[in-house]
Amino acid sequence: MKKLFVLSLVILMSFLTYAQETTTFIHAGHLLDASTGKWMDEVTIKVNGSEITDVSKGYTTIPQDVKYFDLKNQWVLPGLTDMHVHMETEYNPQAYISKFVDDPADVAYNSVAFAETTLMKGFTTVRDLGGSGINISLRDAINKGKLIGPRIFTAGKSIATTGGHADPTNGGNAAFMGDPGPREGVANGTDEAREAVRHRYKNGADCIKITATGGVLSVAKNGSNPQFTLEEIKAITSTAADYGFHVAAHAHGDEGMRRAVEGGVKTIEHGTYMSESTMDLMKKMNCYLVPTITAGKEVALKAEEEGFYPDIVVPKAREVGPQIQGTFARAYKRGVPIVFGTDAGVFKHGKNAMEFGYMVEAGMPAMEAIQSATITPAKILQMEGQIGQIKKGFFADIIAVSENPEKNVKALESVNFVMKDGKVYKN
Ligand SMILES: [Zn+2]
Repeated sequence: MKKLFVLSLVILMSFLTYAQETTTFIHAGHLLDASTGKWMDEVTIKVNGSEITDVSKGYTTIPQDVKYFDLKNQWVLPGLTDMHVHMETEYNPQAYISKFVDDPADVAYNSVAFAETTLMKGFTTVRDLGGSGINISLRDAINKGKLIGPRIFTAGKSIATTGGHADPTNGGNAAFMGDPGPREGVANGTDEAREAVRHRYKNGADCIKITATGGVLSVAKNGSNPQFTLEEIKAITSTAADYGFHVAAHAHGDEGMRRAVEGGVKTIEHGTYMSESTMDLMKKMNCYLVPTITAGKEVALKAEEEGFYPDIVVPKAREVGPQIQGTFARAYKRGVPIVFGTDAGVFKHGKNAMEFGYMVEAGMPAMEAIQSATITPAKILQMEGQIGQIKKGFFADIIAVSENPEKNVKALESVNFVMKDGKVYKN
């Protein structure tokens, strides 16, 4: 009897919460239809709970007892998506020792601030391409409303081969190195490659990240050598497909990159030394380039600061960094599919929108850059119909800037209204 009473109380309470779901009205001076790239003037947006329930022309009368936001002199867009961030870290000269002195709890507390900063800059969704796995708990805490941050799709811990870019023991004291395996994201051979993917599934990842070539910031000599065989990559992508995961591949050198594309990865991160034939293969395979121009620029800058990076990293940062924007320009011109991503964490979180300026500078029209951060990520994340547009039935992820970003794309660096899931975080 008592059980029944508690049950009815729970049902009644959930009904009341449902009934009290907040209704919000927004009057938008200019609203972007991200699917067509066209602006509509004077629009009313209605939001119920976390969902957009109506978008209509003209400024309708606002009913009583609802929340109202006047964005009549604003340019209103869907919340932005950054397809390459690292929510757990932010590089500084101590970053290389921090893995030996920071406990997981320290990493977790740091990531709280990084997540909040990212959301406040208008990025309502991110894809986290590698940390220790704390990024999975961070995602869950944000989804449960315990923390403020973007909607996160995470790869958990990246997968590398021994000594590869994401081998967590590179450059460490041999006494503390241990023997990382598939569980820790280090896999050799096709069996371990499959096992590594299955560990990511078990731990709650949303996608898979591999380091197909050397990288700039790892304590290793070569920044671009191939680090997986084609067979290993195919083992990863086919296993990932079993679990509904897409695969992202970090790649600077062309050989490792080509193997990754041929092996069926969905996105190539950085793409620094991409040849024309690899570009053509990407078009054929519908594989997207994630440019991360901001990271390239920032590491080249920091390489000139004495002591910021270990000596072995400096020449790689000097060489690779400045190449990235040029590669993006060539890839865009050749028709390679592009999706927005910055590698935030390699530089300070919150500077993500600088990427738009670099993309436009390299020849991409501003509207295409905006679409690469709205409708395109929605496709890759299988969130079409849910994020990336301001339309009926979509999540209410809405941002606003005070200038037309199509004319001045740098306006996106100063977002002054942020709504995520129907809740306003910045106004
Ligand atoms: Zn990265």
